[in-house]
Amino acid sequence: MNGPVSIEVLRQHLIDPEICIRCNTCEETCPIDAITHDENNYVVRADVCNGCMACVPPCPTGAIDNWRTVLKADAYPIEEQFTWDVLPEQNTMAVASVDQSPVAADTSADTAGNASGIEVDTVRGSVVPPWSAAKPYVNLYTHKAPTTATVVGNYRLTDASTQSDIHHIVLDFGSMPFPVLEGQSIGVLPPGAAADGRPHHARQYSIASPRDGERPGYNNVSLTVKRVSEQHGDSIDGVCSNYLCDLKKGDVVTVIGPFGGTFLMPNHPNSHLLMICTGTGSAPMRAMTEYRRRRRLKGATGKLMLFFGARTKEELPYFGPLTNLPKDFIDTNLAFSRTPGQPRRYVQDAMRERAVDVAYMLKDENTHIYVCGLKGMEDGVLQALKEIAEQHQMDWEALWARLKKEGRLHLETY
Ligand code: NAP
Repeated sequence: MNGPVSIEVLRQHLIDPEICIRCNTCEETCPIDAITHDENNYVVRADVCNGCMACVPPCPTGAIDNWRTVLKADAYPIEEQFTWDVLPEQNTMAVASVDQSPVAADTSADTAGNASGIEVDTVRGSVVPPWSAAKPYVNLYTHKAPTTATVVGNYRLTDASTQSDIHHIVLDFGSMPFPVLEGQSIGVLPPGAAADGRPHHARQYSIASPRDGERPGYNNVSLTVKRVSEQHGDSIDGVCSNYLCDLKKGDVVTVIGPFGGTFLMPNHPNSHLLMICTGTGSAPMRAMTEYRRRRRLKGATGKLMLFFGARTKEELPYFGPLTNLPKDFIDTNLAFSRTPGQPRRYVQDAMRERAVDVAYMLKDENTHIYVCGLKGMEDGVLQALKEIAEQHQMDWEALWARLKKEGRLHLETY
């Protein structure tokens, strides 16, 4: 007589190609390199993923949080996932075999959606928003059902003498609802198709304006977009950034989003913001600063401290307006890396120079830290925070864990 048949079942982690905006956050976050991508899709290796969930909260769209019960032997290989335009339906035969199998199913990923079960040590920044953040809307408009916005402003932010062409672009949604919070982003669908004939994927841009509009009371958002003409020394055309930089007033843009549910500012009026950014990574800092500037009139007392890096003063977006903000409202520290005749200075150098004041903020549990910009700055900024904390008798490892757990350390680097 035959014994019971052993059927190994897997709850396979998949990424929805219809919702994914290819922002690379999941691949960056995965602590065991289970996620990879080609020019079409982001995919998960079934034989590597252990369902740790570290990638789920940082995903700005929720595309990452998809699971299918499959027989382990039939798990979808990444080669097949690369070709998908939509996720496969759940195979009901596989689900039935879980019910009938005398062998316990491998349910290592069954914690899906339970963000509170995430081991914070596997990620470098917070996977939860600040306790007093407003509740964001996410994915109101998708690749399948986008909305449109009209360009009502597009001007160059950087000095005409520099090669760095950064634009401030204002998009108006008219009567279509597009509720956003500072720190969120939108997706723009550029017209045309990629080399393989498929429509371009959406490109993600942080919103540079506060929740109540670039101009208070208007249904619009602004973006900070840098024209891309080279990468790593090679000449390339940034499909979407160049499209956006060339837009004229009255042009209509296809938009999806909003995205992002963790890189959000605290609403608590006495919370302090420690903001560290480079180049166009200043977009969310501008949004938060402007919201606090408007709100300040209503009694907010929290401190704002900004470290902002660019190659030169001429390449720093928003240089003029920023330097005009009152000193008692925001403590602004600029770091220029390529000023002729001057030594290279990065944001982390400026932070070290202001160590006493940074330490003062680190000690205050109302402080929330935001880092946005080049990937390379992340290590340098965390190292500077560690040194400053330790010089001032703080246990950095314990503080870091607490900042992450309490939604007070937000990293968004590319
Ligand atoms: P960038 O001009 O290339 O660099 C800005 C400054 O950062 C320069 O002074 C640069 O110095 C310095 N830098 C380079 N490596 C650094 C490091 N390891 N630590 C600290 N500073 C360093 O910047 P960008 O082209 O504007 O790019 C900003 C980044 O923000 C992009 O990767 C973009 O994707 C990202 N971002 C954009 C948005 C948005 O909405 N537009 C939102 C989030 C993030 P040197 O070059 O002289 O070394």
